Amino acid sequence: MLIVLLGPPGAGKGTYAKKLEEALGIPHISTGDLLRLEVASKTELGKKIEKTLTNGELVSDEIMADYIEKILKENPNGVILDGYPRNMKQAKKLDELSLKLKINLDYVINCDIDDEVIIERLKNRVVCPTCGRVYNLISSPPKRDKVCDNDGTPLVHREDDNEDVVRHRLEIYRKNYSEILNYYRNRPGFLTVNTDGEIDAVFKSILERINWSGTSQEEK
Ligand code: AMP
Repeated sequence: MLIVLLGPPGAGKGTYAKKLEEALGIPHISTGDLLRLEVASKTELGKKIEKTLTNGELVSDEIMADYIEKILKENPNGVILDGYPRNMKQAKKLDELSLKLKINLDYVINCDIDDEVIIERLKNRVVCPTCGRVYNLISSPPKRDKVCDNDGTPLVHREDDNEDVVRHRLEIYRKNYSEILNYYRNRPGFLTVNTDGEIDAVFKSILERINWSGTSQEEK
């Protein structure tokens, strides 16, 4: 099973991917989290891409193609992908790999939300550098001041979540995604969810539109 979550940075892809991971028992893979880990661990790849991440630019499609192939091979039962694909080249690569590795792309969940809501959200977003859990200091704060509920790690504000970089990331997103959305729009597992709402209610609506036998209600 393969599920792709599409949507601008800050749309809640990570939040719903984590919830889907718990519900479906298949791993949530955030390419952004993995790439940040490469940078933090100072791997060869991490050194190569550090500047790209800080500036909010996209890592090259060639690097990403190898990276995503490795991820899919390591997870033969499928994954919930958050952050890939980000342009048409990547979308086509994913189709090619899904055929080659016989992992069916079941659902494409398009998380839809206004840019201004995102900018406000990302200003208040903090993440746990250990487990990746995401918090919003206003709408979903941690129980104790700025430390992770799961593991007590101090929460951090991502370097690329400052307003200028966020606006740049949104620009990149809008430029590439209309084409991707059109590419997926008519497939049976495509659905659009408005993610500007209370988390449990939004998640319930995602579950209602997906059924476990492998068919989804088409976009309403
Ligand atoms: P995210 O956490 O998804 O916002 O990703 C953070 C950063 O990681 C992006 O701004 C890109 O620099 C890089 N990145 C993540 N996924 C991809 C991808 N599929 N293609 C290219 N760059 C990516």
